Amino acid sequence: MERYRGRFAPSPTGPLHFGSLIAAVGSYLEAKSRGGEWLVRVEDLDPPRTVPGAADDILRTLAACGMRWDGVVVHQSTRSGAYHAALHGLRQRGLVYPCACSRREIADSGIAGIEGFVYPGTCRAGLPGSRQARAWRIVTGGAHAEFKDAVQDRIAHDLETQIGDFVLYRADRVYAYQLAVVVDDAEQGITDVVRGADLLDSTPRQIYLQRLLGLPTPRYAHLPVAANASGEKLSKQTLAQPINAARPLPLLIDALRFLGQQVPDGLARSDVGSFWKWAVPNWDTAHVPRCRSIRI
Ligand code: GLU
Repeated sequence: MERYRGRFAPSPTGPLHFGSLIAAVGSYLEAKSRGGEWLVRVEDLDPPRTVPGAADDILRTLAACGMRWDGVVVHQSTRSGAYHAALHGLRQRGLVYPCACSRREIADSGIAGIEGFVYPGTCRAGLPGSRQARAWRIVTGGAHAEFKDAVQDRIAHDLETQIGDFVLYRADRVYAYQLAVVVDDAEQGITDVVRGADLLDSTPRQIYLQRLLGLPTPRYAHLPVAANASGEKLSKQTLAQPINAARPLPLLIDALRFLGQQVPDGLARSDVGSFWKWAVPNWDTAHVPRCRSIRI
C-alpha cells in the first residue's frame, strides 16, 4: 500500500489565524493518525497578496504549535518552470486558448455559476479582431468531474455549464492557483488532501486538470471553515486574530473541538506535547461536522 502523504498549503497573506489553524490541525492529525507524512507548501504564487515575512511567521507558529513537517518546505514562487511546462503541454494539445475578455465583459454576459460568472466562451474560437490576449483559459467543453469527499460526500460539476472555461494563466501574468496546486500535489506525491471547504468547489476543476495532465487524483477531505457572526469565512480580510505563538494550547484545543472531537477537560491544563500525544491516537474523521462552515 502507498504511504499516506498529506499537506498543509498556506498562502502567506498574513499570520496564521484560527481559520487557517483548523486546516493545519485537521490535515496534520489525519496524516499522523495514519502513520503518514505531513508536508508544508507555501503558496506564495500571487505577488500582490503575499505579505513579506508572513511565510516565516506561519512556519514559526506551526513549530510553536508542535507541528513538525516532513521534508523541505516548497515555495510556489520557485516553481514557475513546472507550471510553465504544464501549461505549454496543454497548449500544444490545443486545450488552452488566449482570452481577451475583461471581468466586466464576463459579468455582463450574466450567466451565474457555482463560483461567480460562467465564462461564455467568447474567445474559444480565436481572439476577436485586434484584441490582445490577457489570460489563458482551459477548454471545458462537455467535461464532467465528480468525486466523493471524505467529509462532505459527493460533489459533481458539469464544468462547461457550471464553471466555464477557467483561467490557468492570469491577466497579471501569474499562474492560477488551480494549475499550480495540481502540479504541486502531484510533484510532492500527495495522496490525501485535507483542507477547508471553501475549496470544495475548486476540486472538480483540479480533478479535470489532473485527468488532462495524466496526474493521479488524491483522496479529498474538506473540513468546515470557521465563519464570523455575519457568516463570513475567518480570514485576514475579516480581521481574524493571529495565533499567539507563546500560548498556542487554548486555540489548539478550540480547533480540535471545532473539528467535532471530544476533548477531555484536563487537556487544557497540559502542554503542547501532551496535546498531540492525546490528539493523534484519538482523532476520528467521522466526528468532523459534515457542513461547509460553522459560525464561531
Ligand atoms: N493556499 C490555499 C489557502 O491558503 C490552500 C490551497 C489548498 O489547500 O489547496 O487557502
